[in-house]
Amino acid sequence: MRYVLHNDGYRDYYCTWWTSDPMDQLPVDLDPRYPAPDSNGPIPGTCRNCDRRGVAVKVPPLPADKEAAAAEFVEWVRAAIREQAGKPGVWNGHRCEADVALLEWHAPTTTVVSRGPFEQPRCVQKCHECGGDPYPCRTLRMVAAPYRFSYSGHKKEWL
Ligand SMILES: [Zn+2]
Ligand SMILES: [Zn+2]
Repeated sequence: MRYVLHNDGYRDYYCTWWTSDPMDQLPVDLDPRYPAPDSNGPIPGTCRNCDRRGVAVKVPPLPADKEAAAAEFVEWVRAAIREQAGKPGVWNGHRCEADVALLEWHAPTTTVVSRGPFEQPRCVQKCHECGGDPYPCRTLRMVAAPYRFSYSGHKKEWL
């Protein structure tokens, strides 16, 4: 996905332009006077949101450390549930099953957010169920919390 980078002479600002057509994702109209631009680089043209000149730039991907942090949390919860599920007790088994379901429903999903014209659009991980970012959501952090008393490796920031 791309956004449009503008500069009004004082500072950069950003436009987003949304379309549901997968074949029509470019947020600028190309200038026919120039050769077709490299499809991986910045693409100059006329912004389809505000009709001013601008450059269509790719949204930077989710930072690798953010993605790794979310994966680490999910892995920890999964391992903690697995360990707990091996313990006796019918209720315990049902509780673990419910937590597995919650973990699946509240899986991370990557989306682009733009918060106004002066903040560069970026990728974030949100909860699939709650929609909020950052990940993990409050619900999932509360699912994880009790496991920290019997399973090591829980992190303070997950509380
Ligand atoms: Zn614009
Ligand atoms: Zn959630």
